[in-house]
Amino acid sequence: MRKIQRLSPSLINKIAAGEVIERPASVVKELMENAVDAGATRIDVRVEGGGAELVRVVDSGGGIAADELMLAVASHATSKLAEADDLFRVATLGFRGEALASIAEVSRLTIRSRTADSASGAEIEVVGGTASEVSPCGCPVGTTVEVRNLFFNTPVRRKFLRSKQTELGHTSEAVTRIALARPDVHFTLGHNQRQTLDLPGGQDWRARIAAVAGRSLAEGLIWVESEHGDVQLSGYVAHPSHSRGNSRMQYLFLNGRYIRDRALQHALSEAYRGLLLTGRYPIAFLRLDMPPELVDVNVHPTKLEVRFQNADRLYSQLLSTLRAKFLSADLTARVESVPDDDPAGAHDEGQTAQVRQQVVDWAKGEIASWERPSTGGAGGATSAGSAGAGQPAPLELTRLGRAWPPAEDTPDDQPPTGSHAAAWARGPHATGPAPEAFPDAPLKAMQVHNRYLVTETEEGVMVIDQHALHERILYEQLRARVTSGAVESQRLLVPEPVDLSPAEAAAVLEHQELLAKLGVRIEPFGGDTILVAGYPAMLANMNPGEVLRGLVDRLLAGGRLPDQRDLLDDLLHTIACKAAIKAGDRLAPEEIEALLARRHLIDDAHHCPHGRPTAVIFSREELDRQFKRV
Ligand code: ADP
Ligand code: MG
Repeated sequence: MRKIQRLSPSLINKIAAGEVIERPASVVKELMENAVDAGATRIDVRVEGGGAELVRVVDSGGGIAADELMLAVASHATSKLAEADDLFRVATLGFRGEALASIAEVSRLTIRSRTADSASGAEIEVVGGTASEVSPCGCPVGTTVEVRNLFFNTPVRRKFLRSKQTELGHTSEAVTRIALARPDVHFTLGHNQRQTLDLPGGQDWRARIAAVAGRSLAEGLIWVESEHGDVQLSGYVAHPSHSRGNSRMQYLFLNGRYIRDRALQHALSEAYRGLLLTGRYPIAFLRLDMPPELVDVNVHPTKLEVRFQNADRLYSQLLSTLRAKFLSADLTARVESVPDDDPAGAHDEGQTAQVRQQVVDWAKGEIASWERPSTGGAGGATSAGSAGAGQPAPLELTRLGRAWPPAEDTPDDQPPTGSHAAAWARGPHATGPAPEAFPDAPLKAMQVHNRYLVTETEEGVMVIDQHALHERILYEQLRARVTSGAVESQRLLVPEPVDLSPAEAAAVLEHQELLAKLGVRIEPFGGDTILVAGYPAMLANMNPGEVLRGLVDRLLAGGRLPDQRDLLDDLLHTIACKAAIKAGDRLAPEEIEALLARRHLIDDAHHCPHGRPTAVIFSREELDRQFKRV
């Protein structure tokens, strides 16, 4: 071991820079925050080479006095904290006094600045931590900071930089976050010779969101707000027809600062539960405003995470605000055309996109049905669309319960014929099940693309997602049975061992009782192996290991443990989804009728448990309008 020594200021700054300055986008963020703190009403950002060659931020803020320039680039020097207590009521974006010093340590930095009461400006240059003299220069009031050749003296860091395009993406995101937080400020972003963003100041928030996130998304936004004590929550959340595959479109601003907070993100997901497909994330633009002493912003080097004094209360405020809003809003998907004279033009882009997506899905489903070998089903009538090797065999008709008539004539002899595979269900007067068995059945329903049922309603035409509706039916049945303690569990002659990770095994054993309620009987086997001794009869033709793994995913999903009722509900959804007929399963006419007989379930809940709409309605007026009858 060597002797203990004090680190040189240069090394200290390099270490600090390692924490704060990860890539060009970090520079952009720090410089923009300084500009906002300086009260700028306009901030122009220019980058070259993705930001690694040059980042320039020009602001119209208060400027830095010539005699303070040297201090501005010194570490631990700030004008934003005066006394120790200030740290616990931070009202500015910066306060650590280390951003400029850190950046200066790993780049060639130039600052030109002028305050309003000074006749001329002053300039300083710092190269790899070595500062020049301060010299006078001509410049407007405000500050210009240029950062060239980032990481020129820390080659390891430089190697970690990605392509210019990727770095530019991060940079735009950094600008977007601050621009969303401050719609009052005019921002521009240019890359090389191109201006990529120009956001005029004083924009209303929705317009600002539209400018950075797209107009179609912004138009479907739902306003939410609430006030609990000193805490105000306000902002927009997206209609469930808009979602993302990750949580990046969840913008949360605490007192004007963009933050990430796992608990609050979880609350957001909870609020959308049942409205979004699994694996989809809500979109949100939310502002939290509270007295600064209620939150500690000094817990993360780039202040991306904060610590709330009352995190639990915030969690429930967010959840209850959104839930209340969703309860009062009608979130049913309805297809409406845009009237020709609609000045907004694409006022329903979201829905149009959704319909387009459905069409694409149809097309894909059709291709899948061509590729699939046309195997004969094992007894079940849903076999025509049965999958190839490795996938679960088609499920039995009994899935729909006793009212579902056993099918004698399976359509196995009909090969799938793509778009012509329309199976017309027989009306109540045709042969087949006794008409009185389905008093509510419509005269006709057509299965299209082995996944949708098209039927006539009083209102117009309804297109039903067969999987979603079946899932809904099974969910209701299963819930009724769980409530009455009557879930049939199928005992396995030889219990099946399933290997899980330690965390998964622990979660499963912790919820042993709950799983038993669902008909899933498990026992510890030693190590992280779990024995599945019995599982719901409903899932008879699925592999027990697969069933358990599906449930484990649900048990472990989300940061905090949901309460037992929520969890049970979640598991019911999972089982119903797994047991339901799939898109791509060809249905026998009897099955179509049996499904339609329960289509009333669509009316009291427009969404399958995963939040996909179960049905889309084309009203008659709508059709008339489309065909120019009115
Ligand atoms: P911090 O923002 O945490 O105080 P920085 O290293 O980012 O630390 O900046 C140091 C100081 O330099 C700030 O406290 C501020 O007084 C001054 N400063 C930096 N950028 C600007 C700017 N764009 N306009 C006016 N003053 C600035
Ligand atoms: Mg700063």
